[in-house]
Amino acid sequence: MTVAVIIVAGGRGVRAGTAVPKQLIDIGGRTMLQRSVGAFDAHPAVTSIVVVLPADRLRDGKALVGPTRLPVTIVAGGSRRQDSVAAGAAAVGADADIVLVHDAARPFVDQATIDRVIGATVRVGAALPAVPVSDTVKHVPAGRRLVAATIPREEVWLAQTPQGFRRGVLEAAVALGQTGVEGTDEAMFAERAGHPVEVVDGDLRNVKITTREDVERVRVIDEASCRVGTGYDLHRLVPERPLVLAGETLPSDRGPLGHSDGDVVCHALADALFGAAGAGDIGRHFPNTDPAWKDAPGLDLLRRAVAIVAEHGWRPVNADVTVVLERPKLLPHIDAMRTRVAEALGIEPGAVTIKGKTNEGVDAVGRGEAIAAHAVALIARRGA
Ligand code: MG
Repeated sequence: MTVAVIIVAGGRGVRAGTAVPKQLIDIGGRTMLQRSVGAFDAHPAVTSIVVVLPADRLRDGKALVGPTRLPVTIVAGGSRRQDSVAAGAAAVGADADIVLVHDAARPFVDQATIDRVIGATVRVGAALPAVPVSDTVKHVPAGRRLVAATIPREEVWLAQTPQGFRRGVLEAAVALGQTGVEGTDEAMFAERAGHPVEVVDGDLRNVKITTREDVERVRVIDEASCRVGTGYDLHRLVPERPLVLAGETLPSDRGPLGHSDGDVVCHALADALFGAAGAGDIGRHFPNTDPAWKDAPGLDLLRRAVAIVAEHGWRPVNADVTVVLERPKLLPHIDAMRTRVAEALGIEPGAVTIKGKTNEGVDAVGRGEAIAAHAVALIARRGA
């Protein structure tokens, strides 16, 4: 069975009242589009992705989508949602048995929801996730603010995406959508075309982000899926040792004494990552009694720390490091250091800050007998 997904991001998102289309708004370091694509890219049953973008965004489409495991085809959308889905459906590979259609504006879709939709689509031919309503539902005919009836709420479900279709069912739905019938989702066209559509459990977190208020609300939710940690490291400076900081060797007549290479930037950052993830500390993971870490490059420790934190379900978002050192001046080396740390963390150099401070000649650091670093790291749930 081959499953393709069409991510619909063709709208201009004017209701969000923002300068960029809402699907390109950043939420916690990734856009809604990237989060939506990422959810399907991470799903083991999905084999290809079609992204429908506004025509004027096609040129930088690859950059907007970002790196993926699966092949991604990018096509231009139409003026209505049904036209965008038609464009996406035309670009789905001939081998796809099941096609999912997902709104990029639902960036928090989870793997279990995708599983349920695929399962029901295989059985029935078409399926959608939906959640029951908890509010009382009134039927208010258009034009008059008068209640015509109270609708039994146990019969009302709020449809989400992804909606799943056997290929032939989607083709019938798309064809109907090109005949003058207006619809707000593909399932409606499948229903009209006479196909049964199964409702599976949706997820309350799989919200659709439409207005500026929605954006603010999910940013708050997203903050709850981030954690922060701090780290500190200090090494004595002795003659005849290389001064390695963030993997860069700096000109110096002395360097840190240590079991490893004494790279305080990497050590403080590794501890910040461990601290944020609740995953112990550097002494537990890299004991200085273990010969494996003798003279180990700090960047290797940092990469290993990222892998351990990933096993705990987290990924780095950004890092901020202050190095306390009398000499040499760090400024000429900062950009190279940031690039190396960013590479080890798997994030953009722009998300890594490294700052140099002297200790004004005071205490051991000030006398040039030691080097220290303070680090703060933010991590987010993987897949979030
Ligand atoms: Mg250390």
